[in-house]
Amino acid sequence: MYIDCTGKELFVFKKISNAAEELQMPAFIIGGFVRDKIIGRPGKDVDIVCLGDGILLAEKVAERFSPKPQVAFFKNFGTAQIKVDDFEIEFVGARKESYRSESRNPTVEPGTIEDDQNRRDFTINALAISLNKQDYGTLIDPFNGLADIEKKIIRTPLEPIQTFSDDPLRMLRAIRFSTQLQFEIADNTFQAIKDNKDRIRIVSQERITEELNKIMSSRKPSLGWHLLFTSGLLRIIFPQMVDLAGAQYIDGKGHKDNFYHTLQVLDNISIHTNDLWLRWAAVLHDIGKPATKKFEEGHGWTFHGHEVVGARMVPKIFNKLKLPLNEKMRFVQKLVELHLRPISLTKENITDSAIRRLLFDAGEDIEALMLLCNADITSKNKFKVRQYLTNFELVKKRMEAVEEQDKVRNWQPPITGELIMETFGLSPGRKVGLIKDAIREAILDGVISNNYNEAFEFMLQKGKELDLSPVT
Ligand code: ATP
Repeated sequence: MYIDCTGKELFVFKKISNAAEELQMPAFIIGGFVRDKIIGRPGKDVDIVCLGDGILLAEKVAERFSPKPQVAFFKNFGTAQIKVDDFEIEFVGARKESYRSESRNPTVEPGTIEDDQNRRDFTINALAISLNKQDYGTLIDPFNGLADIEKKIIRTPLEPIQTFSDDPLRMLRAIRFSTQLQFEIADNTFQAIKDNKDRIRIVSQERITEELNKIMSSRKPSLGWHLLFTSGLLRIIFPQMVDLAGAQYIDGKGHKDNFYHTLQVLDNISIHTNDLWLRWAAVLHDIGKPATKKFEEGHGWTFHGHEVVGARMVPKIFNKLKLPLNEKMRFVQKLVELHLRPISLTKENITDSAIRRLLFDAGEDIEALMLLCNADITSKNKFKVRQYLTNFELVKKRMEAVEEQDKVRNWQPPITGELIMETFGLSPGRKVGLIKDAIREAILDGVISNNYNEAFEFMLQKGKELDLSPVT
């Protein structure tokens, strides 16, 4: 076997080989599994291409296992899938494809293994391993994919302009693989992406976002965003992000390039978390800056309120990108809105009340927020960075102390609306809300402690101010 396989893998491949032999149907391992084996990345998804009916081969392979695994098949696509151990093996007949301009879905006809390799997007994805008796385990590499893996290059097997025009999703796949594998995209391949960028419009948003999320989940996601930007694709798929780019100068005073700052924050946070949504919060934390940018005489550039404007932009962006409009979005929105607060607490003379309010507003997401704020420190001035980080540690210590004492982080009101209504004989309405809010504010301001007795006394006093008396 050309690639290094585990005993389990060899056991499975032998069974596929024997079933293919029985059917007189040549079969090959192809694509990502071969690529990843050569690179040394673990993979459990195996694609098998055969010269014949993939569903039939899958059935024959399944019969060789005990217990026999289920064969899930899609007649329309001629594909079948079985799961054995923790492998997912997909079978499909080799095909030849031809494209029309208005769709990325080709017309397909049965083909040879060469035809099938020709239709692959990149040389590194077109590698195949024979499972046939006469040359079992041999690498079939018509486009020098192996050399490209060694040189760490992403290149299309055929003419790149045609390849991307046929299926424009491949442009994003090129950038995604380049980011995941930290490979360079060959010059003419990248030029073809630039030339075909407008074709991305025929790709569904779901597929685009799937690739974006894979870029986002990579070790250094900035690589992908940078390529999206320089290729011109970003302007089409996510213009608000491009609006962050560039630094404007007035009277010799410039502001930082917020696009590259954002990428730096994203990479910084990606060292500490794999959480996709926290990474999205990093991408979006300054998204409100272009809309709030002002040059103030004698003061320089300001972005007042960008965190509020940015938070308001989050649902629109999530909607457009078809990201989930659920608690993940609300998490991102909250972090964008709060991202300046911990920094503001590093100033002198900060009261416990300000700390308490942040704990209350951030709730269970306080750690995520602190990670974002740490990542947001991208100054090149080492002294400044050290100072910020030290101040941050102090804020964290104070937060711990305040939380220990006041328990506002997952705050539940010590006095419920029901109790207020019961006490004053009220029905639901404005006054109940007023009293509830007043109790919360008094606790956050430190006027009373966060406990039932003090809150109850405060409620009675507040009731009095509203001309209410307790019913006995
Ligand atoms: P990963 O699992 O990391 O996404 P992969 O290479 O296995 O990597 P898949 O999307 O599962 O990616 O695709 C499997 C194989 O099918 C690829 O290796 C490639 O050969 C081929 N392929 C997938 N999508 C395309 C496409 N849009 N155009 C051409 N070939 C493609």
